[in-house]
Amino acid sequence: MNVQTIMTNLEAKHPGEKEYLQAVREVLESIEEVYNQHPEFEKAKIVERLVEPDRIFKFRVVWVDDQGQVQVNLGYRVQYNAALGAYKGGLRFHPKVNESMLKFLGFEQIFKNSLTNLPLGGGKGGSDFDPVGKSDEEIMRFCQAFMYELWRNIGPDQDSPAGDVGVGGREIGYLYGAYKKIAREHSTGALTGKSYGWGGSLMRPEATGFGAIYYVVRMLKEKGEDIKGKTIALSGFGNVAWGAATKAVELGAKVVAISGPDGVCEIPGGINMEMINYMLDMRASNRNKVEDMATKFPTLCKFTAGKKSWSVKCDIACPSAFQNELSEADAKELIANGVQYVAEISNMGCQAEAIHAIQAAGIPFGPGKAVNAGGVATSGLEIAQNAAHYNWTAEEVDQKLHKIMNDIYDMCVQYGKQADGSINYVKGANIAGFMRVANAMMAQGII
Ligand code: GLU
Repeated sequence: MNVQTIMTNLEAKHPGEKEYLQAVREVLESIEEVYNQHPEFEKAKIVERLVEPDRIFKFRVVWVDDQGQVQVNLGYRVQYNAALGAYKGGLRFHPKVNESMLKFLGFEQIFKNSLTNLPLGGGKGGSDFDPVGKSDEEIMRFCQAFMYELWRNIGPDQDSPAGDVGVGGREIGYLYGAYKKIAREHSTGALTGKSYGWGGSLMRPEATGFGAIYYVVRMLKEKGEDIKGKTIALSGFGNVAWGAATKAVELGAKVVAISGPDGVCEIPGGINMEMINYMLDMRASNRNKVEDMATKFPTLCKFTAGKKSWSVKCDIACPSAFQNELSEADAKELIANGVQYVAEISNMGCQAEAIHAIQAAGIPFGPGKAVNAGGVATSGLEIAQNAAHYNWTAEEVDQKLHKIMNDIYDMCVQYGKQADGSINYVKGANIAGFMRVANAMMAQGII
């Protein structure tokens, strides 16, 4: 494989699909060496097949808002690769959603799901619907309209969506209710992230953040360090930041920053449980303003408009909101302020130049597809429980999640260990994820 030739062809075929091309380049660059040691991959055109989704559904979603106005949005589902199992991946509702964004997320999902060692293919979907400022009824009507179209293409053995940015427990409830009504399929794993009591798994809401902190703990251990007493900057205040903050605080770390599109909330004394719980109210309000935290806890937090979490001095930086949220300039500011570890909890949270700057400074960098894989892994555990018509206890799920994260970490080390003894976690995650998919594709023939 010649990465440049492949990229030039892809750029010509998919002009302007910035995020998609960025994600593909990052993976190809790190698997190139290993790939070229396998002439059978080249012969079977594994990479050329892997970079194009199996199929993309794109559809119109029409709904009526509270003022009686008809609204029209676009909906998508990218079914990327099913070599390892039925398509699996979240739905993102955000005004910036387009095909490029969902292709990047779907492509990343293939390798992330592969890392979990569960039988999960890769997919992603969503809509340019903006949940900010919408009423509960509007959210419900939109979810129902979205499912009118999507229901035919999903199912536990076909494709099982879950949440992502803008899609949490409430949205999954409305989507699942609509799916059951239309498809007349009940108690199935057609969607994950359901609430406990009607098919959901205990620990699924916590899983992405908990899993990420389990991974970060291993990164620290590699250097003989403990998370206790370390300061952590998170971004966003959604489900991922909430889970990460909960586990970090439990382990004695200090979360000193969260953020929103409006700015950053600095928390010099560290976030407490009352504030962590308030993050849930902030999300439910659909206001999307982190300033609300400072308004509620004025003596504990300081809000600065227009600033990011990366301006706050910390030991560990964890982007946990949106792709490309950490730029090269942000990385340099973090490095100047003495950051010791960076771990992406969001998907592709760091721009490529930021990753290069962090790695060049000798700072361990954990990529999203490994660090945040606990979310989809627990979705896999939810499907397993649904299929068995059984529920595991929170301890059982957490134990399995912890083992999966430890195994992912070990695989990243196995494939990412460099000659000088340092670990390139990006390379490790990409190669480990890729090999499993490539071997499955080889075994299943030219399809
Ligand atoms: N959206 C999450 C992710 O990026 C979860 C996907 C899932 O649970 O299917 O992995």
